[in-house]
Amino acid sequence: MNFHRIRTRFRTVLVVFAFSMILSAVKAQTVHEPNITNPDWVKPYPPFRIAGNLYYVGTYDLGCYLITTSQGNILVNTGVASSAEQIKQNIETLGFKFSDTRILLTTQVHFDHVGAMAEIKSQTGAQMMVDEADAAVLADGGNSDFAFGGARLFEPVQADRLLKDGDTVQLGDMRMIMLHHPGHTKGSCSFLFTINDEQGSYRVLIANMPTIVVNKRFVDVADYPRISKDFAYTLHAMKSIHFDIWLASHASQFNLHDKHKPGDAYNPAAFVDQKGYEAALSDLEKQYDEKISKE
Ligand SMILES: [Zn+2]
Repeated sequence: MNFHRIRTRFRTVLVVFAFSMILSAVKAQTVHEPNITNPDWVKPYPPFRIAGNLYYVGTYDLGCYLITTSQGNILVNTGVASSAEQIKQNIETLGFKFSDTRILLTTQVHFDHVGAMAEIKSQTGAQMMVDEADAAVLADGGNSDFAFGGARLFEPVQADRLLKDGDTVQLGDMRMIMLHHPGHTKGSCSFLFTINDEQGSYRVLIANMPTIVVNKRFVDVADYPRISKDFAYTLHAMKSIHFDIWLASHASQFNLHDKHKPGDAYNPAAFVDQKGYEAALSDLEKQYDEKISKE
């Protein structure tokens, strides 16, 4: 083997190495949205008025909520990437302008709740506000998510404002309190606010129910050492919330389809369900306790 051949071979190895580095960098930049295993996530659902100035604009299962104010509108959650157009149409079907969207919020930064956030933010110019503990995952498109990371799962969004537990989001005469409910993601959260209509007023909770997304033991979740403590905190904190209307990140979590059928008349009372909430929460607590007892 002569020296020239070794040098050529070394150069080839270098070129291949550089090329694969570029390829993996490009791969990290491309969005690899996970397969949508649940057709209900993308199935259209007719938008409707839940109570007062609060509307359902999501898909059959992915809860997206529009709160209208005199100063523009607030959108909570988006569904997956392809749902951007559906959400826009739902807002317009209700008679509102998509371009009046001023504030974007999310209950958790998984692709089924923020998949269309970048698209909606660029179309409306709205301000993105996120629980500070979820900001990094939102900014890298899910790449640093402790459970599903390692690839860009949705189009990244840089937040305009970071929210802490108890912070208020205000627009017009609406004031929404953000409640930090970590565990499902590091910055999962819920929103508590008051909605008025002709009959009276309702305390509304849009809850992020603390479902566990890791199969391995909590102690083995290296990227989230606080995970077990955070779930314990959230399960405890959520028990003491009092409200009238209960909504959640997924329609199935608050049994939307038992409470409302397309075309039903306006009926906020259908969503008053502290008991259903408590039952769902105690189920989740059981799952947590079982997991802990096995560790
Ligand atoms: Zn999730």
